[in-house]
Amino acid sequence: MDNCIFCKIVKGEIPAYKVYEDESYIAILDINPAAYGHTLVIPKAHFADVYEVDEEYGAKLLPVLKKAAEAVKEVTGAQGVNILQNNGAVAGQTVMHYHAHIIPRVAGDGLNFSWIPKNPSKQFMAEMTEKLAAKINE
Ligand code: AMP
Ligand code: ZN
Repeated sequence: MDNCIFCKIVKGEIPAYKVYEDESYIAILDINPAAYGHTLVIPKAHFADVYEVDEEYGAKLLPVLKKAAEAVKEVTGAQGVNILQNNGAVAGQTVMHYHAHIIPRVAGDGLNFSWIPKNPSKQFMAEMTEKLAAKINE
């Protein structure tokens, strides 16, 4: 897609620190990393977000994520990793080409992806379960 920075990286039109490539995916170092070794897994085809990703690419994603997460953890000496993926500007997505972040974590690194839990009633949980189950199985 024209004017998409990740499409340009996929095509080699702009440089990137590429750590992995296969027929469907690349992985690159994030240029503004949350931690040293922060890596992005990016499909070669342009999908704006998770809703657009097709079945073929979707099926191939988890093995790439797993391999990349193992490598990031091993090479950086991290004790864990966060795998994050933003969809929509309101959710923090700034590059509108699907990608997953792999962020290496060590104790006391100061990163914080936690939240203050809501306190839903049993009725809310039951109603939400019913609505979501109906929708997902549509
Ligand atoms: P998101 O906010 O989930 O859309 O994440 C986009 C990520 O892409 C950010 O963490 C940016 O630092 C990263 N990014 C943007 N441009 C580049 C680039 N040219 N090379 C590597 N990472 C980039
Ligand atoms: Zn793109």
